[in-house]
Amino acid sequence: MAVKITYASLSAPGEDVHRGYEQGLGKVRGTLGLVHPLLIGGKRREVRRTFPDVNPADTRQVLGHFALGSRQDVADAVLAAQQAFSEWSKVRWRERVVLMRRVADLFSERAFEFAALMTLEAGKTRFEALGDVSEAADFFRYYAQEMEEAGGFDPPLDRLSLNEETRSVLRPYGVWAVISPFNFPVALAAGMCAGALVGGNTVVLKPATDTPFSALRLVELLEAAGLPPGAVNLVTGSGDEVGAALVDSPEVAGLAFTGSREVGERIARQFNASRLRPYILEMGGKNPAVVTARADLGKAVEGIARSAFGASGQKCSACSRVYVDRRAYAEFAERLVERTKSLRVGDPSERDVFLGPLINGRAVATYEAAVSEARRDGRVLTGGEVLNEGTHAHGHFVAPTVVDRLPLDHRLMREELFVPFVAVAEVGSLEEALTWANRSEFGLTAGIFSEDANEVRAFFERIEAGVAYANRPGGATTGAWPGVNSFGGWKASGSSGRGAGGPYYIQQFLREQSQTRVT
Ligand code: NAP
Repeated sequence: MAVKITYASLSAPGEDVHRGYEQGLGKVRGTLGLVHPLLIGGKRREVRRTFPDVNPADTRQVLGHFALGSRQDVADAVLAAQQAFSEWSKVRWRERVVLMRRVADLFSERAFEFAALMTLEAGKTRFEALGDVSEAADFFRYYAQEMEEAGGFDPPLDRLSLNEETRSVLRPYGVWAVISPFNFPVALAAGMCAGALVGGNTVVLKPATDTPFSALRLVELLEAAGLPPGAVNLVTGSGDEVGAALVDSPEVAGLAFTGSREVGERIARQFNASRLRPYILEMGGKNPAVVTARADLGKAVEGIARSAFGASGQKCSACSRVYVDRRAYAEFAERLVERTKSLRVGDPSERDVFLGPLINGRAVATYEAAVSEARRDGRVLTGGEVLNEGTHAHGHFVAPTVVDRLPLDHRLMREELFVPFVAVAEVGSLEEALTWANRSEFGLTAGIFSEDANEVRAFFERIEAGVAYANRPGGATTGAWPGVNSFGGWKASGSSGRGAGGPYYIQQFLREQSQTRVT
């Protein structure tokens, strides 16, 4: 059955969706504990060194053992991708588009199994996980549509004489390194691969160490859809070894990275150390929401709670700071605390759980440090506990947390934490809210709640963010969708100024060739 659930869907899905997901869980549970190879040039490569992939909701459960790739594996994968490039880049764009759509349909057909796998591997609730795989499908659909609407990027240009004909042709670069994060283990790896592939590039994919299984299934799906062997290669393993080897490889033509600012900025410099090459970096955020005195507080509370705590705060677009007009503050804070307390934390495969676990112990340590600073320098309104008893005993569970009374320039108001932790601050005006919202090194997403059209207009004009929303109960700052909300960061949140899932994305994987013929 084809499924499409978005992150901003507010209505409950039907029973058939629940049944399908639960069957998916059953199927995935039957595949656990195996040893998995690398995928290079269409072949499985077993390696001696492996690492365990564990369930963050119950760390006693090992989902599988994955290959710790080496520098040699990376070199072989790059070579395989180079060889595949000579074939794939010559495939006519219309055929590539047909294949991209086949990939999308396969994602939709296998949505329940992918979602169940992401629940077990990344701790995603069923709705977040179904959103993730639906987004992957729509990245492929949207980029195929973009290619088609652009006629394969081959427009005629003007002529200087009557017997001269010129076309501007966008052509692929070659092999792209795709380095993906843990938090959207299918959608974001898929989105970057789709961007590269649709124009005729080939890929070596290095997924996050916490989520290799989802990446393996993704590459298997691409193979099943009919991509030529070597068009996408998978090398699992550590960032320091596999990731660094890819970044160092002189044969890699371009780099698409989604992850933290710290890693992204470092590897972009390394990538361009010996030769300038194109890169696309999508990085972190510290995403603000503004609530004015003219806000509908029902919408604001719902949108902010969903954006702060969806996927347990582990979205680059998570709302982590809120600037509230003094006149609305007391009521807003009380209602946000009440809503936060109503959210269930637990096994993400259960249907009424809103927050699953954090991805690993390091994230729990980040949460604990943030809570203790907030207790010292501000006030914890709700949450603040690590949950490790009863059904939470074996996973990385923490309570969703709302804090206030922090100084507006406090570290917790500036740095990305990537945990379910939102800081609320009182301000005197929209002007003051916008000043603080923009006083950030990041500029990914932002939201406003106001029923006053002038306030919304002022927000859109002045906010320094690549993705801006107004009055969105489905998500104050989260929930972008391919072909609907281009998703890219300004400032330290992104390098290119062009959003994924938007009309200017796939061109970044292509280089222009001007072709002039004199007849
Ligand atoms: P991360 O720690 O930066 O890791 C991202 C990827 O980089 C992983 O595959 C990682 O591998 C790899 N890596 C680490 N060190 C490397 C190195 N020296 N050379 C090459 N690759 C290296 O990020 P994460 O924790 O997975 O994801 C969360 C971050 O991603 C957050 O900051 C979030 O805001 C950001 N994010 C941004 C967007 C966006 O669209 N703007 C979307 C999603 C997430 P290992 O796992 O093996 O370390």
